[in-house]
Amino acid sequence: MLRSLLLNLSKSSWAKRQIASFWVAKRVAGRFVAGELPEDAIRAITDLNARGIVATVDHLGESVTDSDEAVRAAEAYLDILDRIAEAKVRSNASLKLSQLGLNLSLDLCAANLRKVLERARSLGLFIRIDMEDSPSVDRTLEIYQRMRSAAFDNTGVVIQAYLYRSEQDVARLLKSNTRFRLCKGAYQEPASVAYPAKRDVDASFFKLGTMMLDAAAAAKLPADPRGITPPIPGLATHDEKLVRALLAYAEARHIPKSFYEFQMLHGIRRDLQEELAAQGYGVRVYVPYGREWYPYFMRRLAERPANLWFFVSNFLRA
Ligand SMILES: Cc1cc2nc3c(=O)[nH]c(=O)nc-3n(C[C@H](O)[C@H](O)[C@H](O)COP(=O)(O)OP(=O)(O)OC[C@H]3O[C@@H](n4cnc5c(N)ncnc54)[C@H](O)[C@@H]3O)c2cc1C
Repeated sequence: MLRSLLLNLSKSSWAKRQIASFWVAKRVAGRFVAGELPEDAIRAITDLNARGIVATVDHLGESVTDSDEAVRAAEAYLDILDRIAEAKVRSNASLKLSQLGLNLSLDLCAANLRKVLERARSLGLFIRIDMEDSPSVDRTLEIYQRMRSAAFDNTGVVIQAYLYRSEQDVARLLKSNTRFRLCKGAYQEPASVAYPAKRDVDASFFKLGTMMLDAAAAAKLPADPRGITPPIPGLATHDEKLVRALLAYAEARHIPKSFYEFQMLHGIRRDLQEELAAQGYGVRVYVPYGREWYPYFMRRLAERPANLWFFVSNFLRA
């Protein structure tokens, strides 16, 4: 109930106007977001790198409503890619296709993505295409495959374990050695497309994770030594039970550590991030920055009710 309410509010421009202008919300969002400026993101990545953790940076923004906005979002990515290269930090970048115009025109979106991939390729960087709500999955995978067919190997996609279709998508995309991020899924989806029960989502995550680990072992495709190009499975969860179960699976099969990595969000389970990194596992943290933090922040609140109480208690103290 609460999750649905928060996810509905994440899409409401009325709620955005009420909540995002409120300084307490800004302060609480600061736990999940590196800051508003690219410099803030580079600082957060530098700090992670010093702790043996690599990053993927996200310029916040989604669901743009005009083509100029989509072009500006692509330019913001060109800027952050240049800054990553200049600062020599160990990071790739993640983006949402709805930010590059996916809901306006497939061709506009593909042209914007191509510009970003070209710049990334010239700098030796990798671009992860985030996955959004279920109506955009087919179009997202179509654009991803267009880019792979155009010889852009510096890109990968996200698979959401809560979708029934994901097993088929993984089986198909593994044939072209897709580098995946596997996550549970953060959007509000009907039971006709996604598992409603958490235990089924967790079981699906484990199953898809093992498919990706087996494929990584067969393909012998490690992460690059700088940690910028990720391996085939990027296992993106803070769920310690799943992390340990997939680690046990990989170790029982002697799959080298360089063939997979764990991914987590900025500000969440820093203890687990550091523990895994100290044990020599690849850990990548998703570092979002920018002014459009509202929907991202609301999804983080929806994932964990305790975050909402943290928000309310800050509000009461204000
Ligand atoms: C690197 C990364 C990239 C992602 N990219 C996408 C994407 O492209 N598309 C998409 O749909 N989703 C994405 N997600 C979000 C994901 O789908 C989940 O909504 C989110 O990770 C919470 O699920 P969980 O696997 O951590 O497990 P859960 O079962 O939700 O949580 C397990 C434990 O993790 C901790 N935790 C989880 N979430 C929070 C939180 N918000 N605040 C505090 N503690 C928390 C708690 O200790 C909780 O008990 C991404 C997640 C990560 C880590």
